[in-house]
Amino acid sequence: MTRLLPALAVIAACWPTPAGEGARLPATASALRSAPGYGPELAVDGDENTLWLASLKPDSANNRVWFQLDLGSVKPIARLHWIAAQGTPYPASAPAEYRVLLSNDGARWNAAAASPPGAGVQTHSSVLLNADARYVRLETTKINDGTGWALGIKEIWVTGGRDASAVAKGFRPRCQARDGAIRLTWQTPTSVHPGTFRLYRVDEPGAKGDRPLATLRAGRNEYLDRVPNWTPRYYWLEAVDAGGRVLLTSEPAAAFARPPDTATAPIETFAFWYETYKPSTDPDASLKHLGDAAFVVGPGAGAAADLAANGKGVLPYVTFYQTSGWARTFPATADPQQVAKEIAPVAFYHKGLHFPGSPPGYAPSVFCRPDNVEYNAGSILYTACPNSARLRELVLAHVRSQLDGGVLGFFVDNGYEDDVAAGSVCESRAHQHYYGEQLTGADAFLGLVMEVTCEVKRRHPNGVVMINGGVPADASFYGLSLGDVCDGLLWESYLRSSYSTPKEHVYDWQDVYRSSVELEKGWTASPPRRMFVLSYPWDRAEAFFCYASAKLCALPWSACLGISDPNHLHFGGHFGTYPELVDLRLGRPVEPAQYGGARHGEVYSREYDRGLVVVNPTQSDQDAAVPFGKTRRYREVFTGQEGEGDTAAAKLPPESGRVYLWR
Ligand SMILES: [Zn+2]
Repeated sequence: MTRLLPALAVIAACWPTPAGEGARLPATASALRSAPGYGPELAVDGDENTLWLASLKPDSANNRVWFQLDLGSVKPIARLHWIAAQGTPYPASAPAEYRVLLSNDGARWNAAAASPPGAGVQTHSSVLLNADARYVRLETTKINDGTGWALGIKEIWVTGGRDASAVAKGFRPRCQARDGAIRLTWQTPTSVHPGTFRLYRVDEPGAKGDRPLATLRAGRNEYLDRVPNWTPRYYWLEAVDAGGRVLLTSEPAAAFARPPDTATAPIETFAFWYETYKPSTDPDASLKHLGDAAFVVGPGAGAAADLAANGKGVLPYVTFYQTSGWARTFPATADPQQVAKEIAPVAFYHKGLHFPGSPPGYAPSVFCRPDNVEYNAGSILYTACPNSARLRELVLAHVRSQLDGGVLGFFVDNGYEDDVAAGSVCESRAHQHYYGEQLTGADAFLGLVMEVTCEVKRRHPNGVVMINGGVPADASFYGLSLGDVCDGLLWESYLRSSYSTPKEHVYDWQDVYRSSVELEKGWTASPPRRMFVLSYPWDRAEAFFCYASAKLCALPWSACLGISDPNHLHFGGHFGTYPELVDLRLGRPVEPAQYGGARHGEVYSREYDRGLVVVNPTQSDQDAAVPFGKTRRYREVFTGQEGEGDTAAAKLPPESGRVYLWR
């Protein structure tokens, strides 16, 4: 007699894998303009070593350009992909703001997609279109930071058909982190009529769901799951008809519970220390120069105990984008086969890659290629695969041992904006992929950062994981974006970056201010986009200008703290200590939603619980006349002058900032 399988086994569900798009479609290319020797055909020849480039001359007119594909006839299109150039040849770069236009006749155009707000520079892109067209045009309005870069494209193509995973994506549970719980909500796709939903939860990506967490009537579209804080969980749904047949499986969603942000103190300032750390027993202890910041970025775990004894946390430097620290480095002359053997457990592999001197399938990380300024033939590192199960083990073991040693969090340098691996899926068979087979390098990077953040926060609720460097804006880890999985990014060289002359890297104040206003909103957006800012001011006056400008938008600020080069003799030397600014405590903004503060003629101000900042961004002297709202006793920090009155009344020099503290 044949026995039926037990009911539970029938219900057990496998980790869902989405259906993808079709193949690359052949196309002919044209462009608004091209630099000599860099024609449009070079972006559609299937060879990433050649490129189309709009111009070889830096010019702000380069921001506006278009590049067009002609498919020969109207065809179903799933996505538009491109791989853009990054600095080679100069000034080639990638779009930051763009639209994708479609046409059947080359005359009438419809906008089908646009760059997501604040997306950043898109070296790799995969824009969902799911439409029919003959002509596809990428039209840009901003290349890189808009200062004169020219659009350069190594390869651009569309894929045919429809990206069916986009349909399932509409059917992904939306997860909201709560304190000790995750709230899941979903919408039933209009194309199916289920009787019930089965909700599955697993602790590891890719794991099989042995039985549903819940079976819910079709009318119910939410579920509250109680889980421990800072412990990742993975969910998916099945829409099931009355006969028990699965109609549609959702995409998986990743989530973790977290206490509310208000449970931790706001970070007003932080410290940077690039030099050798001198402990508090040293006559010239580094602590004397650090200021009273919440945490210090830079020193290794060796400084953690000394700093912790003085109430400060350390964020040591770590990278995940290259094999550094996780596998050996190799000289450029190393035997490629030997290299391949040693890096295979942790390095990104793609069969189409071939860099001269490197094992086929592996990419030297961007800083380790001969055309890069940091290239060192004696020390080549390879691009890591953040999805590698072995790399994940090594990273988490490192994180735990550093936490045991007393660190407060991590400074993850160089993000994951690798031009090869960020936008593509690793094809390695030499290592297992922990986070799932469909993820790009950048998607998996978010998963790894999420696990590091959870390790840190389980140990230290006030711990910090900060990312420096790019991560593609469309990177997504099962519904989580970068802002969900870390405490924020670092904006290096905020407003001023004066290394060896006072006017070396001077950014337009209005541009910086406009971005800062958006960044202030980003701190409370969903998903959050949080930015920490770091200035390299030339002198004390410039430090006050940078600090006060950042505080118009309540951004956590630091200046590079170092003392080895007080006379600015060396490019990149670190100099200037600003503990007096790092030590300031303004409290919370009086009007939290007054993003960017208030304007009084040419002068800007922002009021806090304990004081007020004033900025003169113009090139001329301005008379500040900022009303306090009531009579205040105050100390103006820059001059040290004390006073009493109902108005900040001072002559502000060109490009300056002042701070009034209530007494
Ligand atoms: Zn891999």
